[in-house]
Amino acid sequence: MNFVKYKTNFRNLVVGVNTKIPLINGSYVTAINFDNAATTPPFVSVLQEIIRFAPWYSSIHRGTGYKSQFSSNLYEQSRDVIARFVKADPKKNTVIFVKNTTEAINKLAYRFCEEGKKKVVLSTCMEHHSNDLPWRDKYKVDYIDIDECGRLSMEDLERKLRKYKDSIALVAVTGASNVTGYRNPIHKIAALVHQYHGKILVDGAQLIPHVPFDMKPDGSPEHIDFLVFSAHKMYAPFGIGVLIGPKSVFEQGVPADVGGGTIEIVTHDFIRWAEPPHKEEAGSPNIIGVVALAAAVRMLESIGMENVERYERSLTDYALCRIRTVPGLRLYGNKEDCQDRVAIIPFNIEGMPHDILAAILSYEAGIAVRNGCFCAQPYVQRLLNIPGEEVKKRIQDPKMDHPGMVRISFGIYNHYDEINVLVQMLHKIAAHRD
Ligand code: PLP
Repeated sequence: MNFVKYKTNFRNLVVGVNTKIPLINGSYVTAINFDNAATTPPFVSVLQEIIRFAPWYSSIHRGTGYKSQFSSNLYEQSRDVIARFVKADPKKNTVIFVKNTTEAINKLAYRFCEEGKKKVVLSTCMEHHSNDLPWRDKYKVDYIDIDECGRLSMEDLERKLRKYKDSIALVAVTGASNVTGYRNPIHKIAALVHQYHGKILVDGAQLIPHVPFDMKPDGSPEHIDFLVFSAHKMYAPFGIGVLIGPKSVFEQGVPADVGGGTIEIVTHDFIRWAEPPHKEEAGSPNIIGVVALAAAVRMLESIGMENVERYERSLTDYALCRIRTVPGLRLYGNKEDCQDRVAIIPFNIEGMPHDILAAILSYEAGIAVRNGCFCAQPYVQRLLNIPGEEVKKRIQDPKMDHPGMVRISFGIYNHYDEINVLVQMLHKIAAHRD
């Protein structure tokens, strides 16, 4: 496999890259974080922005004080920063601030639900639970299948679109899998879905921080109707996320959460809801989170998302090439396939439980990875070839191992040398297996 190594100055953009942590033998090493698909460390510039903003911080929208107005303006302007970043049509779309991707999808699931009409939502076999469970009790949910490599089956998508035709409310698909890193051809999917008069939601949690993104104009058949993502996976703090979609959709009905901020006029027997996005943002919002997210977006823009994508691709190619040399190492999906994936690699070492492997990496080398099913149990079960019946049997037997994998995932501050440390450690572990 060919890969180009890049010299970058991304390393010092985030906090904590030189943190020393103790190992089990009492020595200290510089922590290596290969768990960026869970959460990235914040940008230094994001923390600086929070500190700059702190003296101006005040409750927004209804205050007449200078600071309140200043904070309100910054909060509202941040919507434009986010819209520009993902090329959302600012006239048609509304940018709603939420806690995270999970809340965004739950909100949308509520919004779309038309009482009495159990419409169809097509989810996929490769979703995070957050893009599967919120649909289940409100809609008839069917799952678009994957192929033997774990990639979404476009044939099955077409089959299901033909099967359900006009009853399809929404196709809810991840932009990139948090298990395999595989990217889905979202614009191609959008074009197909629109032919059947459905709408498409892209779960952008694993995509938006890693590649340039374009929601495309409303008139284009390939446009993305709804997009959701979380700040804590893109170098900003926890507690803030984004739901973008057509304003007209959110003008309808009653919001999922009601209360302060969601209304224009209330009497004891009358409510006039505020315009979206305010209608969907009940209670005092996370202003610092929003300001921080906008700062993270500005930093990503100044790096250039093409550069982010190119560098992370190079790290992934390098890692795939190196870890293949580890005896007994098992990769999942299509092992030769580095195209169309973000910087996520799941693996196991034969004869070694995933939790033990992750613990050894942490305690003996200071390498943070994730292990288990990554909140995508049905997908991991498929990749591991464990049928549903077997899963149920295992639950009843406490002595049985829980299936899973180890996952490494990179951010722009990771480095080839850190991958070398991982590979060296994996060789050591593989050599000492029973
Ligand atoms: N969707 C995907 C693809 C994810 O990877 C995650 C988190 O790992 C989520 C949704 C949920 O994100 P959050 O926990 O920020 O709501």
